[in-house]
Amino acid sequence: MTLHFTQAPDLITHWIAGTADAGHSERRADVFNPAKGKVARQVALASRADVHRAVAAASAAFGEWSEAAPQRRARVMFKFRDLVEAHTQDIARLITLEHGKTLPDAAGEVQRGLEVIEFACGIPQLLKGQHNHGIGGGIDHWSQRHPLGVVAGITPFNFPFMVPMWMAPMALATGNTFILKPSERDPSPSLLIAELLKEAGLPAGAFNVIQGDKEAVDALLEHPQVQAVSFVGSTPIAKYIQQTGIAHGKRVQALGGAKNHMVVMPDADLDGAADALIGAAYGSAGERCMAISVAVAVGSCADALIEKIVARAHTLKVGAGDTANMDMGPLVTAAHRDKVAGYIDTGFMEGAKLIMDGRQGLTGELAQGFFINPTLFDQVTPEMTIYQEEIFGPVLCVVRVPTFAAAVDLINEHHFGNGVACFTRDGATAQAFVQKIQVGMVGINVPIPVPMAWHSFGGWKSSLFGDHHIYGEEGVRFYTRYKSIMQRWPGSESKGPEFVMPVNK
Ligand code: NAD
Repeated sequence: MTLHFTQAPDLITHWIAGTADAGHSERRADVFNPAKGKVARQVALASRADVHRAVAAASAAFGEWSEAAPQRRARVMFKFRDLVEAHTQDIARLITLEHGKTLPDAAGEVQRGLEVIEFACGIPQLLKGQHNHGIGGGIDHWSQRHPLGVVAGITPFNFPFMVPMWMAPMALATGNTFILKPSERDPSPSLLIAELLKEAGLPAGAFNVIQGDKEAVDALLEHPQVQAVSFVGSTPIAKYIQQTGIAHGKRVQALGGAKNHMVVMPDADLDGAADALIGAAYGSAGERCMAISVAVAVGSCADALIEKIVARAHTLKVGAGDTANMDMGPLVTAAHRDKVAGYIDTGFMEGAKLIMDGRQGLTGELAQGFFINPTLFDQVTPEMTIYQEEIFGPVLCVVRVPTFAAAVDLINEHHFGNGVACFTRDGATAQAFVQKIQVGMVGINVPIPVPMAWHSFGGWKSSLFGDHHIYGEEGVRFYTRYKSIMQRWPGSESKGPEFVMPVNK
């Protein structure tokens, strides 16, 4: 097996009908090495015509693939799973190269994506309908699920392997054909995914990659043959994708941004809470949709908690993601680093107490790459910009509240509702938290409660637009249409013409 895309090419192309494809547009975007702060390569930006060719390839592949027996589709997933496992380090290297996160963190991302492929291997079981024999008049009644057709996935920069895996294995295993539009900031893993799927035996055209920006996204949203769109990214774009997709008659699930809180009760194990907080706030430089960006310190615990966070944060190693033993890498681009630095300015100007300023200490390679050191604000209040908006960087805000009830009200009033955590030793507090909190994914003494592949992922409020969470059984439902069938054969109890609603008495 010769794979071309274990290394990033100088020009990252599309993948259409089973081969790399440079496209017909001259438009290009720079892709950076964020640890060095330099342009490393370019990515082709698709024109509408390129998107139309990908949709045509996916449409042509749909018939054969959708009619393949589910166990045949499952076998492709089994092989794909083994190939991904064998190439974990190659995929992780590509992620680190363009995203910047540390290699072990990137390998963790690969593992979480691989688990969705494993779930998709069970598709014959997952597609089983329900059956009733003899519902009356010699009729049998059952339900079955059908694939939708060509479906598209539009993904963010922060998980260039895992988020496409939230979508493509589920879409393909259920019999759809798929077009991935990855982030233009770290597009290289998408081509290796395409190559590995081909190697696993997926027919040409069943999986395609379109590199690009708004032009490619709009062409997908408007194309009549695209039946459904899965999106993961920021909230303004998620809203736009949902509204535009629906206006063009598509099924849409659009996952947006986040502001995840972690409540620390006075009875919590404060050392455990501080360990959890620095990992969840600063891991992956805070560029995780499930990162904790607000610590809600209840009652008297704030001072002790802050002291423990500061002590730990000062031991963090910040540097290039491919250097051994680093805890945190750079931000993805200079523009994003500047945006995060701007939020630090704003927080300070609005009166929050800046305890650790990540703009300080950026010397040597940290000055060349797109780095920001761990940042900590205390005395943050709900009306401040740094509390209201998603920063998506290594910035942790501490909000002090007097009681558990005030912590719950604070979180429930926030417009985001992706993930949340509560650290406590008290069962009644934990139970009340789980029941009262208006957030999609909840952790009790677990800071980043990302659901396993056989559950489903999704937030509430401005963190998700659409009716379905992503992957797991919700993924099966999203990528299939439900059909209900009643069947009677001649010779069974036909009563001749019937003019009233048939009922069983
Ligand atoms: P983004 O919204 O900028 O981009 C996401 C995708 O949309 C990319 O493929 C991009 O090319 C495309 N896009 C960008 N602008 C567009 C436009 N104007 N029109 C059409 N398409 C456009 O997000 P990002 O910066 O790549 O990723 C970070 C964001 O993603 C954060 O807000 C983070 O919280 C969110 N995110 C959410 C989840 C979740 O599960 N809820 C998971 C990961 C990331």
